Amino acid sequence: MAPVVRFAPSPTGYLHIGNARTALFNALFARREGGTFVLRLDDTDTARSTPEFAAAIAEDLRWLGIAPDRSVRQSDRIALYDAAAERLRASGRLYPAYETPDELERRRRRQLGRGQPPVYDRAALRLTQAERTALEAEGRRPHWRFRLDPGPVTWTDLVRGPCHVEAESLSDPVLVREDGSYLYTLPSVVDDAEMGITHVIRGEDHVTNTAVQIQIFAALGAPVPVFAHHNLLTTASGEGLSKRLGHLSLRGLRADGYEPGAVASLAVLTGSAEAVRAVADLDELARLLDLAHVSRAPAKFDPHDLDQLNARIIHGMDAAEALPRLAALGIPPARAEAFWTAVRANLTKLSDAAAWWRVVEGPVMPVVADAAFAAQAAALLPPEPWDGGTWKAWGDAVKARIGLKGKALFLPLRLALTGLDHGPDLSGLLPLIGRERALRRLRGEAA
Ligand code: GLU
Repeated sequence: MAPVVRFAPSPTGYLHIGNARTALFNALFARREGGTFVLRLDDTDTARSTPEFAAAIAEDLRWLGIAPDRSVRQSDRIALYDAAAERLRASGRLYPAYETPDELERRRRRQLGRGQPPVYDRAALRLTQAERTALEAEGRRPHWRFRLDPGPVTWTDLVRGPCHVEAESLSDPVLVREDGSYLYTLPSVVDDAEMGITHVIRGEDHVTNTAVQIQIFAALGAPVPVFAHHNLLTTASGEGLSKRLGHLSLRGLRADGYEPGAVASLAVLTGSAEAVRAVADLDELARLLDLAHVSRAPAKFDPHDLDQLNARIIHGMDAAEALPRLAALGIPPARAEAFWTAVRANLTKLSDAAAWWRVVEGPVMPVVADAAFAAQAAALLPPEPWDGGTWKAWGDAVKARIGLKGKALFLPLRLALTGLDHGPDLSGLLPLIGRERALRRLRGEAA
């Protein structure tokens, strides 16, 4: 049976690289297995969800190269959740509770003071009808809790292997708030069941939810999907990511000039059995994804590794892919291919190309320490047309005439031609700079 998976972010912020890990695990799994990838927006929290964040999520996924086969929003599906809640009420699994957050907090502290686990004591289940009526007459409205069955909840996790959670260690979860709105727990199960989700691949911060949700699947008579809880990306110091850390948002990384392939490689391969390396092709990345060998330890990553991955991707990028983007930087198409071949090995980000184009087009402030040497070299410049062999031919001629060689010869020429002591191989750059500009620069003129 072809798998159906989903990525289910809340549109309450921008996706960060840790969210990208979950999204990619799902999308790549579907891609490799010939399955379906659903984007589900968990937007039942209407106070914090916004259409702008929802649009940004779709856009950021597109940038990563992920195209959902289907997109749904929970806010369009409330009737399904109402029906499920009604069934759970009817079967006695969903019960009203009236405690205020304050009362619950006081109770929790008392339990902790007595050395007891802070598990909800189910006082609401012991209320009589008369007591409930009295509370409602006071103006209290109930929230609704799911009555957990006692005993162990077990599943075989594709990442973590055999898992088990004792239901007695958990509070009966609140599924419906006082105002009738749903917390995430029930809608997620209803959707997973209704959409035929076969595999729930998500972060290990959801392990406890899974125990609860397995009981809800059973209470609704729905088949339980396979679960896979992957480790979470953390910074090198072990700090978790949050949507507040805007600089690791996908759009922040994109604005900083990182390639989606670099971000995807880091997001997927960190904390896996594979070495972290640049894999720009999502099919290849999908082949490397092996849930059974995702580490149990936190997936620590260093954002600086992105630079190296990015450079690798740029160095391997062919001209056809680079050309439209070079055009967007203002580099004329007629010369862009030769330029790309000349500079790509020196770029960390594609946008760095703009600075090298300025070196080609000028004006460059040349550095000429020895004007006599520069004049002699200028006199030996071959006539145009120039090609990839010109730089060497010219260098050989200057060497033969003046006797300098190696760095003593090439560094002053580079400083005069580019104003810099480092940069791409001049074999590629010199023909782009051209004879006229080269002559002026050798004379020490800004050109
Ligand atoms: N909206 C939930 C989250 O962002 C989804 C969790 C899940 O995949 O079930 O954490």
